[in-house]
Amino acid sequence: MKTLSELALNVKASTTMAIDAKAKQMRAEGIDVVGFGAGEPDFKTPDNISMAAINAICSGKTKYTPASGLLELKKAVCNSLKRDLDLNYLPTNINVSDGAKPIVYISLRVLLNPGDEVILPAPYWVSYLEMIKMTGGVPKIISADKNQGFKVSAKQVEAAITEKTKCIILNNPCNPSGAVYSRKELNEIADICVNNDIYIISDEIYYELLYNEENFTSIASLSHEIQEHTILVNGVSKSYAMTGWRIGYCASNETISKVISNYLSHSTGSPCSISQWASVEALNGDQSSVKAMRDEFKKRRDYMANAINNITGVSCEKPDGAFYIMMNLDEVIGKSIDGVVITSSDDFAEKFLEKELVAIVPCTGFGFPNYVRWSYATSMENIQIGMKRLEKFVLSLK
Ligand code: PMP
Ligand code: GLU
Repeated sequence: MKTLSELALNVKASTTMAIDAKAKQMRAEGIDVVGFGAGEPDFKTPDNISMAAINAICSGKTKYTPASGLLELKKAVCNSLKRDLDLNYLPTNINVSDGAKPIVYISLRVLLNPGDEVILPAPYWVSYLEMIKMTGGVPKIISADKNQGFKVSAKQVEAAITEKTKCIILNNPCNPSGAVYSRKELNEIADICVNNDIYIISDEIYYELLYNEENFTSIASLSHEIQEHTILVNGVSKSYAMTGWRIGYCASNETISKVISNYLSHSTGSPCSISQWASVEALNGDQSSVKAMRDEFKKRRDYMANAINNITGVSCEKPDGAFYIMMNLDEVIGKSIDGVVITSSDDFAEKFLEKELVAIVPCTGFGFPNYVRWSYATSMENIQIGMKRLEKFVLSLK
């Protein structure tokens, strides 16, 4: 048989999805596995949102909608971007699709010609790298370790620019580090991008989940020029505990928006009408559940970061946003368990799952091989069990 597409054959499966599927499968088999894999809030979708979906079903709002989303939802997105981030967009600037994941993918599709370079700050969310390759782009990775708070500087961005650079993917707050860029840092990066005519895909899906006093700044809000250069990605999955409803969206200039909309009309078609009506309620309705979930995440973050830092051999920074902690393994890599040497975070995660039945994600796929990622979007009870099992596991390493 003829070979498949080279681009497609190069794509690796998502580690986050794979580990989550494995943990869920083990649980279904009756194994007492505790999952810290996929970043998925454990909370139930708030009732007002679920009721809006039920009403949509009962009132027959169950047909195709425009491929780029319902006008009502686009208006709700514009309102929330104005209310929360002081951004001015019109419904014609908004595209809705089946989650933020396809939105990032389609944004890259729309921006890139084969061979165009995309600057990707590491640590990065696992899917960005594969999506760049899937869309014919060339990733240019720049790295920021804990001494830089896992945030790249404008100087690093500038140094990575070549004549082929088309865009940068900025994930703020960041999955997996939880790092949040300040207004000043964003201003410096924005200047470089505008001066070099580089687009920014700014994935701000975790912007509601911030745990310090500082307000969140969207890079698109810094000037008209930067707004024109930005595709702002967002969605309801994380802030409203709606991962399964599959609604994400983006805001961009009208030219990009039109091309994205054409693309959606032939690829995904219209997003689920029921989920769209639920998302209208999520964005327009009572926002108190967002605060309640954020407060709970903050408690979990504090508990987990302290517990990790109290275990000799592993350590972490306390992140400012999102719901992940990156745990450093420098001191345990090279140690053994059952005579088998742990040579990487993949080995650590595999042995930890096998021995202690705890699922975490190695950061190899996030461009940071000496770290593993814990998601604290799970109950405090699970976190306490996970931390006890971690201590036992690390103590058993020789
Ligand atoms: N961006 C980031 C940074 C994420 O962590 C995720 C997690 N799934 C997504 C986008 C995709 O979100 P969605 O569930 O809306 O596709
Ligand atoms: N984004 C989440 C994560 O990083 C969910 C899984 C995924 O979409 O990759 O775990």
